[in-house]
Amino acid sequence: MDGRPCRPGPRVGDGNWIAGVFRTSAAHRAGIPSTGMPITIPHVIPGDPLRISASTFVAWKRCPDQANAMLRGIYGPDSRPAFLGSLAHRIFSRHLNRGPIDAEEFDQACREEIGASTLNFKMGGLEIKPSSLSGMIEEVRGLYDRFVRFPGAGFEGSEVPLAHQTDGGVELVGKVDAIYREDVGGHRLVDWKTGELGDPVDQLRFYSLLWALERDEVPVCVEAVSVKTGESHRAHPTMEELEGVAAEVAAMAAEMRGSWNQGTALERRAGPWCRYCPILEECPEGQAAEALIG
Ligand code: SF4
Repeated sequence: MDGRPCRPGPRVGDGNWIAGVFRTSAAHRAGIPSTGMPITIPHVIPGDPLRISASTFVAWKRCPDQANAMLRGIYGPDSRPAFLGSLAHRIFSRHLNRGPIDAEEFDQACREEIGASTLNFKMGGLEIKPSSLSGMIEEVRGLYDRFVRFPGAGFEGSEVPLAHQTDGGVELVGKVDAIYREDVGGHRLVDWKTGELGDPVDQLRFYSLLWALERDEVPVCVEAVSVKTGESHRAHPTMEELEGVAAEVAAMAAEMRGSWNQGTALERRAGPWCRYCPILEECPEGQAAEALIG
């Protein structure tokens, strides 16, 4: 994030502009506008309720059967980096909402955030002893020292929950790390990474769609920022892109329900992501990829 303003984005309800897009939109023709909005999730075959998050959507793009495992509630074990990342996010949110955290109060602030969240229970599973917590807090302090250098102008909210329910029993959910109002109008959605930046494109597109569905507004821009490395990825969503993501979400829902309704197996696509797959132990394709990649 460099603090530069983004160009203004269109509101979903802007008549002429919308008309030009939606009159030719197959997704619009096929979809059910559950909120009266012009952007919709296209029809999906009936089936069990489906709750799609950014994580499961990204997983589906990589490997449908991994997404299926997550939708069935199978997740990998907690990890130390995940614990550290969650704590850092709570500290970032605390800073944004309550102001800077003094150096001498930082340790206590971290412990309060742990105590007020599920991190308290995860400490047991990860066998993190209170005595070894200090080292982790120092790592979070290092991230926080970098985080405070990012400009905060226009901040409107942190850890903002978003949800959209379609008429077909498909729910889209997400939580955006931070929302900023841009000088030129509109909003910027930011996702903080505490590790490497990775490839955040699909995640950001999913958030853009969800924001548009819930807030009736296309975000001016969306960005992912690695607090650890300083790398960032910034994009300016368009209605055409959002329609494309809506179609992908519908395709995911249809694929999942098709598999569940008929009892058929989903495709497995192996890759570097197999390492963190919750069903790696029962997946020969993933194990072969792991052996190859080492
Ligand atoms: S281990 Fe790899 S190929 Fe197998 S289900 Fe998981 S992500 Fe897919």
